[in-house]
Amino acid sequence: AKRNGPQNYRFYQESMNANALKRLTIETQLRNGLEAEEFSLAYQPQFDLKTGNLSGVEALLRWKNKELGQIPPMEFIPIAEESGLIHPLGEWVMRTACTQVKTWQDQGIDLPRIGVNVSPKEFIHPEFISNVKSALADSGLDPSALQIEITETLLMEHFEGTAKTLEELHKMGVQVAIDDFGKGYSSLSRLQELAIDCLKIDRSFVSAVDESFRQKSVLNAIIAMANGMDLGMIAEGVETKEQFLFLQEKHCDEAQGYMLSRPLTLEQAEEFLQKATMQ
Ligand code: C2E
Ligand code: CA
Ligand code: CA
Ligand code: CA
Repeated sequence: AKRNGPQNYRFYQESMNANALKRLTIETQLRNGLEAEEFSLAYQPQFDLKTGNLSGVEALLRWKNKELGQIPPMEFIPIAEESGLIHPLGEWVMRTACTQVKTWQDQGIDLPRIGVNVSPKEFIHPEFISNVKSALADSGLDPSALQIEITETLLMEHFEGTAKTLEELHKMGVQVAIDDFGKGYSSLSRLQELAIDCLKIDRSFVSAVDESFRQKSVLNAIIAMANGMDLGMIAEGVETKEQFLFLQEKHCDEAQGYMLSRPLTLEQAEEFLQKATMQ
């Protein structure tokens, strides 16, 4: 028992160093990632629950590093945010997404919208609006085909600044969705003051459909509220037929999830879009 202390301490210190080292490695590799063209976008289809038609895709960032392999966004995005690398990275995502959709549309593919995730750090940056403007202008994409996804945390922590940026996006004709809605307990009255178009209902509420009656009524209430506020809504993380049918019955607008389609690589997305939107 006597030896336990120092030994544990050393173990703790070593694992901490390992974590710090991993972080540093990720940060270093991230810095080269853009130039080395290691990033790509995956596209996850979204569907209109009334018509069954494709309503849009969400762009999801992918990173395959030569040394570290495939690293999930949950691991590298926080590091990109803290190191400031999120700015060039986010700009790349915005440009690539806008250009890709415009290219598809020019090929005759009827893809109405693309969702682009924007981290709070990017959104509150003074150059954010001008970056979006130039991505739209350079790609030629109609602003209404762009849906920016932001989180509730952003709204709660930076309400005033955010309200202004939202207003500007609205004037430009760009759509805005609240991502992971329901997780952040944001106040509904404040939400009503903001220029928002859509709620992306968090996966946790959708998976609750398989559970109790009470859980289901929370999801039902969110859908009813969004409809009452005249907001669009996309249910995230739809994995089962039961969830799908429940959402349809309760008049949720759109759905996205593994049951409908996984996020697709560029090649897979191309094949999928050809089939889904061309006869
Ligand atoms: P998110 O925006 O909530 O994206 C949805 C995540 O859920 C994606 O994970 C997607 O692959 C996954 N997903 C989709 N359908 C299902 C389903 O039916 N079941 C389950 N269990 N999961 C599903 P991914 O691609 O690993 O992205 C994780 C998070 O990383 C995203 O969460 C988003 O917050 C962030 N992210 C991804 N791309 C970007 C980006 O370009 N910029 C920024 N700032 N963040 C990004
Ligand atoms: Ca999202
Ligand atoms: Ca989400
Ligand atoms: Ca509606």
